Amino acid sequence: MAMYDEISAGAVLYLKEEGPEIKYLILNYSYGHWDFPKGNIEAGETELETVFREVSEETGIKDIQIIEGFRQQIEYKYRKKSKLVNKAVIYYLAETKSRQVVLSFEHNDFGWFSFEHALMKLSFENSRKVLRNANNVLTCLYSN
Ligand code: ATP
Repeated sequence: MAMYDEISAGAVLYLKEEGPEIKYLILNYSYGHWDFPKGNIEAGETELETVFREVSEETGIKDIQIIEGFRQQIEYKYRKKSKLVNKAVIYYLAETKSRQVVLSFEHNDFGWFSFEHALMKLSFENSRKVLRNANNVLTCLYSN
């Protein structure tokens, strides 16, 4: 028996512009919530292949650089019609130099947000936890 009905992979995608400020990309899903870009892992795909494909499909961004050593899994359940879906999402951490975003039909809006602002924007505590961990990693990475 499979542990999950659905497994997605996604990225905490960030942009580092002039100075120390890091901006995180958060999307507004058509369900209403705000979360990182992600999507279902398709048959035969590795997690990272899904991350590259989904980020590209959902944001148009193709230049992403994975920060090695960061891989975090969250889990949740949601109701699809009358069925309870047990879902896992695996997040990687990735940098881009592209600020421009081209959304797909799946999302209504997006923003590049500072850490504090992104924490307020994210709809779910499990995603906020992933962001805190990512921000800690980047704070160390970019200190001196
Ligand atoms: P994917 O982007 O992986 O293809 P999706 O767009 O089909 O997924 P989800 O983002 O998983 O769908 O949202 C499906 C349902 O789960 C929505 O009702 C949403 O509110 C809820 N949900 C989404 N993310 C979380 C989360 N991190 N914690 C709890 N519930 C969530």
